[in-house]
Amino acid sequence: MIAGNTMEPSKHVPHLVPTLDRRSFLGVSLGSAAGLAAAGAIAPSLTRAMQPGRPGGTPRGPGGKKALNVIFMVSDGMSFGTLSLAEIASRVRDAKGTHWVELWGREGVKRSVMRTASADSLVTDSSAASSSWGCGVHINNDAVNFTPDGKTPVPILVQAAQNAKATGLVTTTRLTHATPAGFIANCPSRNSEEEIGRQIIARKVDVALGGGSKYFPDSLLSKRPDLRVLRTHAEFDAYRAALGRAPSGPVLGMFQKSHCLYECERDNIDPSLADMASLALAQLSTHANGFVLQIEGGRVDHAAHANDAGAMVGEQLAFDRALGAVLSWMENRDDTLLIVTTDHGNANPGLTLYGPDTYKGIERLCQVRHSFEWIFDQLGMKLQYDDAVAATKLSEEDRVGSLVRAATGIQLGRDEIGAFVGALHNRNPQLFEPMSRSSSVLGSCLANHYGVGFISPNHTADFVEVTAIGPGSELIAPFIDNIELHGVMIGALDLRPAAPL
Ligand SMILES: [Zn+2]
Repeated sequence: MIAGNTMEPSKHVPHLVPTLDRRSFLGVSLGSAAGLAAAGAIAPSLTRAMQPGRPGGTPRGPGGKKALNVIFMVSDGMSFGTLSLAEIASRVRDAKGTHWVELWGREGVKRSVMRTASADSLVTDSSAASSSWGCGVHINNDAVNFTPDGKTPVPILVQAAQNAKATGLVTTTRLTHATPAGFIANCPSRNSEEEIGRQIIARKVDVALGGGSKYFPDSLLSKRPDLRVLRTHAEFDAYRAALGRAPSGPVLGMFQKSHCLYECERDNIDPSLADMASLALAQLSTHANGFVLQIEGGRVDHAAHANDAGAMVGEQLAFDRALGAVLSWMENRDDTLLIVTTDHGNANPGLTLYGPDTYKGIERLCQVRHSFEWIFDQLGMKLQYDDAVAATKLSEEDRVGSLVRAATGIQLGRDEIGAFVGALHNRNPQLFEPMSRSSSVLGSCLANHYGVGFISPNHTADFVEVTAIGPGSELIAPFIDNIELHGVMIGALDLRPAAPL
């Protein structure tokens, strides 16, 4: 067997921090680090070390202005280096910056730095992180709005629906994947995606667009005859063209059995994230009582796990185009809170060579045609690798070299190919063990050509960027804990307390 190319986070560290009961959280002043520590949400030593030092806020903005809508955008697994690389790539390739960085210069924009630890790990996974926003409670990695003592706090989309708000989920992953699940579902394990699919159907999301049709079988869909189901880009376009001419009921668009295609190899087969976001907004904004919409660029994370710099920057730029579509929709509106952030860093990429070649490296990065996933598929990762190699007349080194060249335009050197082939056969252990994965070794080989290196194939504990604008954004302090964004959304919308599930 060859070295694994798994995208899953590595093993969890032991329980570190006591979990907070939701009622206790709501009983303390919103966002106050001292209050959170008193309620046991943050280990006291951590709190001392990270004292944000601000008084607790109120759950409403100055003047009582409340938000009709909330749009919560997540670039999953986006280290700050990823955001930087996307901005640099956009300027090198297109001579213009990204919408995200442009947003920082706008009047009224609030920025914050956010810590991301979960209840049982300094390095969170996506389901615990999304649940922190979904229900305002720290839970263990792997769980979805499900506390270690078995409580099931009400996720924000359920609470919003109880308050007569419309709801939406847009993602490039499976709709049943961790981040969308954290806004709608309760489950002891993120891997129970059949159950998460059932909850998405039962809890009646108004607009759901993404991948993951394998978890929405006909037997499940038959329970919701009111649901309009879209399965192809052509059906998506036809639905969009008809929107507004006829009253629209709830819609479920699933364009792949599993995740949507990477942007660099999408070839217009799937709708883009920007198009899905625009359609969701067009439909949700017909609801007079407002909406809560989560939009996720979910495969930034997958490419970062693979140390695949080209695919990762492509995903981040696609996310940024979706942000551009959201900002266009928000123009001349003052009734919508927009939060743009990530759930955790991942692999901490960075441009780290000097000189004029840095520009050349970024140009190469922008020309990537295929992801590492494609390279590994071609190498027969899903078959027995040795059989796949034997089936071709090329030497293993030539075959690997030509596939990497087809995907990236880069001809690896002999030593680099040797290192990668060694990793494919588990013959190239790295001193930092996680970097022994064959995808990380390929990422390191290509770092010589892009100038972009990675520190690991895993999530990181780094603090992350939060950018927000609109009513309620004034509640966000300069340094926050991820669970605070739940209270910010509830406060901005002035939602009534949730009825128990
Ligand atoms: Zn994540």
